[in-house]
Amino acid sequence: TALLEINHLSKQFGNDTKALSDVSFSVNEGEFVSIIGPSGAGKSTLLRCINRMIDASHGEITFDRIDVMNVKKKDLKKVRTKIGMIFQHYNLVNRLSVIENTLHGTLGKKSTLAGVLGLYSQAEKEQAIRILSLLGLEDFIYKRADQLSGGQKQRVGIARALVQDPRMLLCDEPIASLDPNSAKTIMDHLRTVSTTMGITVLVNLHQVDVALKYSDTIIGINKGQVVYNGAPKEMTKED
Ligand code: ADP
Ligand code: ADP
Repeated sequence: TALLEINHLSKQFGNDTKALSDVSFSVNEGEFVSIIGPSGAGKSTLLRCINRMIDASHGEITFDRIDVMNVKKKDLKKVRTKIGMIFQHYNLVNRLSVIENTLHGTLGKKSTLAGVLGLYSQAEKEQAIRILSLLGLEDFIYKRADQLSGGQKQRVGIARALVQDPRMLLCDEPIASLDPNSAKTIMDHLRTVSTTMGITVLVNLHQVDVALKYSDTIIGINKGQVVYNGAPKEMTKED
């Protein structure tokens, strides 16, 4: 069954930049979907519309039967906890520790306060440590974020999303800043999140080979339009 449905979605920036035009597709519960396309194709705009970081111009987004585009500002937080976001540049708070960054996903603006750990229950901390350990970060829990490698930082990004118990992860170029080994580790973890935890994963990639290897479904986007939507094995060179 579809967890996410996008219908006739468009996004216009200013008067001339049409970042998305008439985009429609659906994503099933637990599916691993890669969105591929050249730089400027609209991939990042699409993910930002889905979690309402930006507002689409036209169309419909239905997530878990919620009409996302019409959710009131005050109710957005509830929707966003179900939709985790992973960024290319990790977006960690450098001077906070790994576990503080992991928990801070639920903290919003207060995250700039010192003493983040004191704001959480023992159970929340134990849950964070469990997730960090699943991601191979058990030796880094109290290290500062700025002492980590890029691949380790991205694993913290995944942990921060997972502690919220999301239904879906939106990953915007999660491996674009990583070396091939770290990129593989991150993709393996994202695949596990989908296959083992049953969390739906939507990931923007510009590497077609990676998308072919990991995805159930590939959506190709060019100039704001869907130009391919299907299984990796059915994709030909021309696509
Ligand atoms: P991709 O993620 O595929 O590289 P983007 O979604 O970032 O593509 O960008 C799609 C198009 O929308 C590009 O032409 C980009 O310059 C434009 N764009 C993205 N964000 C904004 C913005 N905030 N204001 C104006 N134009 C934007
Ligand atoms: P990405 O690497 O995800 O494609 P970009 O580097 O294109 O992102 O964009 C970084 C930021 O700049 C985003 O907040 C995006 O919305 C904004 N942006 C991108 N293109 C434009 C543009 N043409 N005009 C204004 N803002 C833009």
